[in-house]
Order: sequence, then structure tokens, then C-alpha cells
Amino acid sequence: MARTVFVLGAGASAHSGVPVMSSFIREVKRLQRERSALFDDSLRSDVTRLLNTVSRLDATMAKSPIESGNIETLLAIFEMAELVGRLGSLEGKDLQGLSESTRRVVAATVALTTQLPVENKNIYPPVGYARFVEEILLPLSQSHGHRIGNEVAILSFNYDIGLEKALHHYSVPYHYSLSYPQQSQGITLCKLHGSINWGLCGSCGQVHSVDFSNELYRRFDDLSYALIRFDSALVNFSCCGVKLSGTPIIIPPSWDKSRDRLKLQTVWQQAARTLADANNLIIIGYSLPKSDSFFHSLFALGVEGHADLERLAICDLNPNAVSARLAPILGPRIEVHPMLIGAKFEDSLSSIQKYTK
Ligand SMILES: [Zn+2]
Repeated sequence: MARTVFVLGAGASAHSGVPVMSSFIREVKRLQRERSALFDDSLRSDVTRLLNTVSRLDATMAKSPIESGNIETLLAIFEMAELVGRLGSLEGKDLQGLSESTRRVVAATVALTTQLPVENKNIYPPVGYARFVEEILLPLSQSHGHRIGNEVAILSFNYDIGLEKALHHYSVPYHYSLSYPQQSQGITLCKLHGSINWGLCGSCGQVHSVDFSNELYRRFDDLSYALIRFDSALVNFSCCGVKLSGTPIIIPPSWDKSRDRLKLQTVWQQAARTLADANNLIIIGYSLPKSDSFFHSLFALGVEGHADLERLAICDLNPNAVSARLAPILGPRIEVHPMLIGAKFEDSLSSIQKYTK
């Protein structure tokens, strides 16, 4: 039977409160203003450094192509600046560790905005992801009479853990393909740009994921939801007798990923294999931006010579535009007419459910 592959972009996580990358700096400023009680000293200094750098750039490079509101663009520019040793009027120690510190801000912002509903003291997954797992993934797997995971795989561009929280809630096993040998049990969840709960062992170079545990949740009297602080918890875990790096593995889409390739090589290999095996592809909330040339190449390699892709669905606020960007990647040999669902993720779940039946 059909192997169904979901591709999830920022549009899928937006319902849980995670800001899209283009409004990220605005969200960081809001958190600094309203939620700085949640910051520890090192986060406070990382946030201050990022916002100071952004305002210096805005002042000195007003006509530059830097869209300084988009955090992924900024992160790519900071990494380049560290390599070449300058960025506007910034040089030397102003640039040292700037991208590391920005990654920590990205991870903390994602962690501090992923809202987990609380009811009767229980902490639940974001509602869209809960429905996605309960109404789509579970029936899809069960209807084929297979163990869950054999029929479904997910590629995600999101750094947050909303989907994992839902999988965990419904006791659906999943694995990230972070290492060899591949674990065979459960849904394959390839997070192509990293995740806030992934940390690096400085000794063996292996990326490890941190699992859900009660002590990582944070609840506050003035919030109707809970948060989970994977971002600041990484250093409490160790490998090879040393603590994991305190900076989560987050790799921006617009940057040449070759520098980071060894870290996530197994994830990307698995993603390419997954695309090659797909009979049924469902793209949700991912706009296929031209800046993500890495995914364009990965996708092209994955579907190269792919004769088995039978069905394609695109769920996005503007599905026609996504479809137009996808057509040249699929090439003339793959003749599928996509089903277009023009709605937000949380409003399209019943259409997706019908489509996957
Ligand atoms: Zn290690």
C-alpha cells in the first residue's frame, strides 16, 4: 500500500504560537519586554547582544539587502561575517560567537512561544498537532494493518517540539534518524533544519536528542499554558563523559549547509530515501522558498527517476504558488496533479484526513 510522506513547514507550527521567521525579531523584543523573568543570565545577555547587533545593522546598513527582521537570513549573514571577519562596522570580538549566541536565542524563543495547553493540571500537545496525530497518523497506520511507522514518514522544517509532544501523548513511537544503525521502530521524523532538543557531543561529534520528562516543563500562574525548556536543558545531558553543547542544533535554510553536513548527514540521507519511497506526498505549511536551495536539491535528488509518486497534496494559504514552485522540481516525468487545499494547517485537517483515507 501507499507510503505516505508528510512535509511540514512553519505553517504547521504557527497555531501553537511559534513565530514565523520573518516576525522573529519582533517576537524576541516582545519576550524581552514581557517575559524576561523567564530568561536566565546567559539568555539575557544573548538576547541583548542580538538586538544590539540588529539595531547597529539597521543604523549603518539601512540600504543593504539585509532583511534584519528575518532571523534565518540574519543567522546566515552572521555565520558568513564570522568567516570573513567583518559585518558593517562590526569586527573582531563583536563577531566572535555571534551565530552561536543567535542560535541560543532562536531556540529559547521557540521554546518560550510553543504553548502547551494545561487542563486539570495535565499538560497537552498543541491542539492542531494532537488532532493531526489522532485523526490522521493513527488511522492511516491502523487502516493498513501495519505497526505504526511502516506507512508514514514526516519531514519537518520546524525547530519546535509540538509534533513530538503529540506523538508522545498518544504513545506513538518515532525516531529522528540521528545515527546508524537506523532504529526501525516507529515513525521516521526527519527534522532537516535541526531541533531545539538536539545537542552535540563535543567529543564524538554525535548529535543527541533529549526526551520529554516532567522536570523540563515550566508552568506559570499567569499563563494558561505550559512551556517546555529543552533549549536550556541540553547541558544537563552528557555523552562520552562530557556535557552536551549548550547550543541546540539549528541550521538555517539559506546557509550552505556543507559546514554542518556531518552533524545531520544521517537525517538528510534518510530524508532523501523517504522521498524516493513516497507514493503519496502531502506538503503542509511549507512554501518551498527559493532561499532554501538545499531542500530544492534534496527534493530533486529524492524524486529523481521516481516513478511511484502517485498522489500529491499541497496544503497552504496559497497552494497555487507552492504548486508552481514545485512543478520544475518534479520535472516532466512525474505526472501528478496535486490536490490543493487553501487553508491553515488546523483548518485543513478534515480535508487531509479524507484525502489520506
Ligand atoms: Zn559522545
